[in-house]
Amino acid sequence: MKKRLIALLLTGALTLSCLSGCGKTAKPALNIIDDNYRTCYEVFVYSFYDSDGDGIGDLPGLEKKLDYINDGDDTTDSDLGCNEIWLMPISPSPTYHKYDVTDYMDIDPEYGTMEDFDALIEDCHSRGVHVIIDFVMNHSSSEHPWFVAASDYLKTLDADEEPDLEACPYVDYYHFSREKLEGYTALPGSDWYYEARFWEGMPDLNLKSEAVRKEFDEITSFWLDHGVDGFRLDAVTSYETGQPDEITEELTWFNDMVKAKKSDAYIVGEAWTNRKFYAPFYASGVDSFFDFSFADSNGNIAKILHGAGSAADFAQSQINAETLYQSYNPNYINAPFYTNHDMARGSGYYTGELALQQTKYALAMNLLMQGNAFLYYGEELGMRGSGADENKRAPMQWSSDATAEGMCKGPANMKQQEMIYGSLEDQAKDPNSIYSFTKEVIRLRNTYPAIARGMTEILGAEDGDSQICGIRRRWEDSDVAMLFNISSEDRTVAMPEGYQLVDWVNATDAKNAVSEKDQILSLPAYSIAILSPDSGTK
Ligand code: CA
Repeated sequence: MKKRLIALLLTGALTLSCLSGCGKTAKPALNIIDDNYRTCYEVFVYSFYDSDGDGIGDLPGLEKKLDYINDGDDTTDSDLGCNEIWLMPISPSPTYHKYDVTDYMDIDPEYGTMEDFDALIEDCHSRGVHVIIDFVMNHSSSEHPWFVAASDYLKTLDADEEPDLEACPYVDYYHFSREKLEGYTALPGSDWYYEARFWEGMPDLNLKSEAVRKEFDEITSFWLDHGVDGFRLDAVTSYETGQPDEITEELTWFNDMVKAKKSDAYIVGEAWTNRKFYAPFYASGVDSFFDFSFADSNGNIAKILHGAGSAADFAQSQINAETLYQSYNPNYINAPFYTNHDMARGSGYYTGELALQQTKYALAMNLLMQGNAFLYYGEELGMRGSGADENKRAPMQWSSDATAEGMCKGPANMKQQEMIYGSLEDQAKDPNSIYSFTKEVIRLRNTYPAIARGMTEILGAEDGDSQICGIRRRWEDSDVAMLFNISSEDRTVAMPEGYQLVDWVNATDAKNAVSEKDQILSLPAYSIAILSPDSGTK
């Protein structure tokens, strides 16, 4: 017993000296918890991996590349380590992006078949990877049979004739009016208008209609029966434009309806607006809403890295957000993300000689937030793309050779993107690449469960240094602290009392360790130290 204890202590000492002296030769074992605090990889199937040579990514192609996302083996470090996938819309649609659905219970033939989907889900689940699907309930395609039936019927009515829902129930599925209301567009060949907030090809559905709710009840059952682990709700703020209480009611209906069928389903909503407007949506019981205030070129993370905020702002803004969400739902799960398919790629936010470090560090700041953290495909390669939506959805850069196996052609109107940080082939070999760094940060999420699950506390170890941010998170009996050096210069800081250095990442030089000597921590430029209480994580 005593011998074992000494051996354990020695192992601990060796790990520590290696951490501070000779690079991370002994990485702590992963500790992955099977819950809804995950690391989720957002995939645009169209641009991910093409399995049949038509230049369009597909579900069998994605399945082929699952080893890249997660190989299901905790002892390897050749995969990203994401343990959830968000599939952007996969159902039949006339557009390349497929956010206008014509059949909610099938797979677009460009992407494959239901059998391909079932195989993908089975393969994901065998690796401990959850799959959530985009759920576009705000609107359908104008080519959806519901809309076509409603339109055809309305065109038969006389000028003073009111629609008869018994003759055509689909009229109630949408918002039709003979007046041109705000957000409405003319129905060609008739004296009717219909609500279409995004585009005439996307008529807004009437989510107050019992018949529509019954349809989505069946549609969620369909996908849950096919094994999905949850849903990403598109365009929540447009459910009832400008009417947050009604949106909350609709979200409550959806959440209750799904959780009655699968109590541990995970639901995340896209409410692209300010925090005060969407935080009350948490009262619906929907697990998560994307945390827009930290994302994009003008969000908290980019602002701080551009010097428009202090390191302390990073901690305080998280605390403000968490406290607000918690006040509406104690079981909320934050959904931090840095970019998505609607935003310019993150690597374009920084210029000059620090651009690479800042691109990497921003991803770490995002991925080390609490909650279920999202990573948009290709951000881990620092892919480029801005302007038109198509540019933000460019082919995954497996190779710099566009004719290499599996490479996609990308959306038709995409401007060719110059990928300045190289393809996966280049980056996989380079310990200082964006890819290698991102993998290291995800490893931290998978090693220290409190990072995702604890509430943010200010550590108070900054010694008045505006470039140092100390964050502590506790969950069950684990306790982890993170010290961020958000500057281009090396810094030192006193080791917080009762803590020891257990891990680190460095966005400047992966070989230049965070180290500790005589209770003084040396934090290289753009590094992050991971600390645990002296007694170690239990
Ligand atoms: Ca294909």
